[in-house]
Amino acid sequence: METIVYAARVKDKELLKRSSSGGAFTALSDVFLENGDAVVCAVYNYTSHDCEYRLVLTKKERDEALGSKYVQSIPGKIFREAEKWLRDNPGRRLLFVGTGCQAAGFAGFAKQRSLRDRTVVCDIICHGSPSPSVWRDYIAGFEKKHGKAEYITFKDKRNGWNKPLSLAVTDGGEVSIKGYKKLFTSNCTMRPCCHKCPYTKVERDTDLTIGDYWHIEDKLPDFYDPMGNSLILIHTEAGRELFDKASDAMYIMQSDVKSCLQKNLMRPTAVSPLRKDFWRDYRKHGIDYVVKKYAMPRGFRKITMKIQKIVKS
Ligand SMILES: Cc1cc2nc3c(=O)[nH]c(=O)nc-3n(C[C@H](O)[C@H](O)[C@H](O)COP(=O)(O)OP(=O)(O)OC[C@H]3O[C@@H](n4cnc5c(N)ncnc54)[C@H](O)[C@@H]3O)c2cc1C
Repeated sequence: METIVYAARVKDKELLKRSSSGGAFTALSDVFLENGDAVVCAVYNYTSHDCEYRLVLTKKERDEALGSKYVQSIPGKIFREAEKWLRDNPGRRLLFVGTGCQAAGFAGFAKQRSLRDRTVVCDIICHGSPSPSVWRDYIAGFEKKHGKAEYITFKDKRNGWNKPLSLAVTDGGEVSIKGYKKLFTSNCTMRPCCHKCPYTKVERDTDLTIGDYWHIEDKLPDFYDPMGNSLILIHTEAGRELFDKASDAMYIMQSDVKSCLQKNLMRPTAVSPLRKDFWRDYRKHGIDYVVKKYAMPRGFRKITMKIQKIVKS
């Protein structure tokens, strides 16, 4: 089937604010949960500071997965847990939502176990997954300085979808974690395999793909909402059926592949020219040093590095 493209956002304004894009994840997973089916999604663990996959059966549990976590998620034993749940619950279905690589892995696993027709697999467009150890190091240093992080958001939308804030909430209030966010966008901390990602294209082996509908303000100005916009790519009949059921909860507008293209639908994120220097500095000097050096704006960083070279010579 040729890929069908939609712009979408949930009608519930509060939910739209809490979701990283347009809330498509919640609308799609609601269909499964309201029918007594299961959803596998990535949840942030505030004890270990890992992002881990969980099988959820209620909206309350599912809501813990809301929002993008800029750290690699850990599948753990989730494939086997999903298989067990499907075998224990004949007649029930399961929705898997995760990054392109993990969703493709799950789709292959389900097919091999003859369970693919009882699953719907949805992947998220992905810029690349950053190293979990860099994040753990960053958040450990953060907690030493500011106390326990009780809530973390990498994409707070109070200033709008185009100007997201990254922050953690502690006993003492909100503290910015923009140093970490800038490390993420510097592309220095990404897993090496992300730079060769085979899933950075429109066609996929999954049933649906969701992401941000970037540049929608130019492509579909009448549909654009400053609080968030999802892009939904439908690849299969199973994907179309789920989308149709979820669409009551969303405003939707059909679009096309050409209008919705963004970098990570065309190619993997390029390796940063600073990657080697970053990892050398991180191993030698630690997290605070690399945050100061690599999380500054690119122009400023270039000037600083030039000055350092002159001073050294
Ligand atoms: C590391 C990362 C990079 C991304 N890069 C892009 C990009 O370049 N372009 C783009 O259009 N969209 C990107 N996204 C996707 C986008 O930010 C949203 O996650 C997606 O559109 C779903 O948003 P939503 O509003 O529907 O629901 P939300 O409630 O915001 O979505 C939550 C969903 O994302 C999943 N999720 C969150 N963090 C992770 C994680 N670390 N690993 C696996 N699954 C996770 C949850 O399981 C849940 O299914 C990225 C997401 C992540 C996590």
